[in-house]
Amino acid sequence: MASKGPRPLVAGNWKMNGSLAMLREPRLLAAMLKDVRLKADVMVCPPAILIRRVKSVLKGSKIKVGGQDCHWNAAGAHTGDISADMLKEAGCTAVIVGHSERRANHGETDEIVARKARAVQKAGLKAIICIGETLEERKAGKTLDVVARQIKGSLPHESAASDTVIAYEPVWAIGTGLTPTTAEVAEVHALIRNELGGLMSNDGAGVRILYGGSVKPSNAGDLMSLPNVNGALVGGASLKAADFLGIIKVFA
Ligand code: PEP
Repeated sequence: MASKGPRPLVAGNWKMNGSLAMLREPRLLAAMLKDVRLKADVMVCPPAILIRRVKSVLKGSKIKVGGQDCHWNAAGAHTGDISADMLKEAGCTAVIVGHSERRANHGETDEIVARKARAVQKAGLKAIICIGETLEERKAGKTLDVVARQIKGSLPHESAASDTVIAYEPVWAIGTGLTPTTAEVAEVHALIRNELGGLMSNDGAGVRILYGGSVKPSNAGDLMSLPNVNGALVGGASLKAADFLGIIKVFA
């Protein structure tokens, strides 16, 4: 696929899945991508405890590793949390923040997401900031308002194209097999691009806007060819090398 705008990114979010046995999947993926010339960056975001292992399996490959979440502080009394600096030290180049599962299960507000994103950027990593409407909000015709509000509230003021990725993930499309129509995706991505222009001026054009929510090999081609769609955030289909490869290959 010919690239328009910023270089695309295909990132796999393993969520709370993975094991030492599952290391065979990134190993396989690296082998399958060895001689493929890609017009996109590829990343996997395993659970924190597997980051160093995945990193070592991917040594010598072009595949990058990211974290799934972090605390907004660099260190301190936060039992069970992990900082952006720690993720960086483990070999991450990016961290997902504001995923809808964090927003819903951990009560994360736009303000918290912005603090986390700022911590990620301060650590010298890319913040992959997730936004997206619920089914109720879509049915009520509030999608564009919700997405505009989330982006304004979740994006740190000092963000730059080099340290910011936006992932539009309709909550109702995550893990359900449902996706918005291509026209609906294009409409939201155009709105996000426009908002980024207002918030970041010229840098807004260089920010990658990923689509996420039930992306699979069979729909990736259509979704990834839309204007202002600069890659994908992939959950379920990133767990198996063959499925993930089917999505990545859209950019070969
Ligand atoms: C996600 O959780 O970020 C996601 C996009 O999940 P899935 O691809 O499984 O819908």
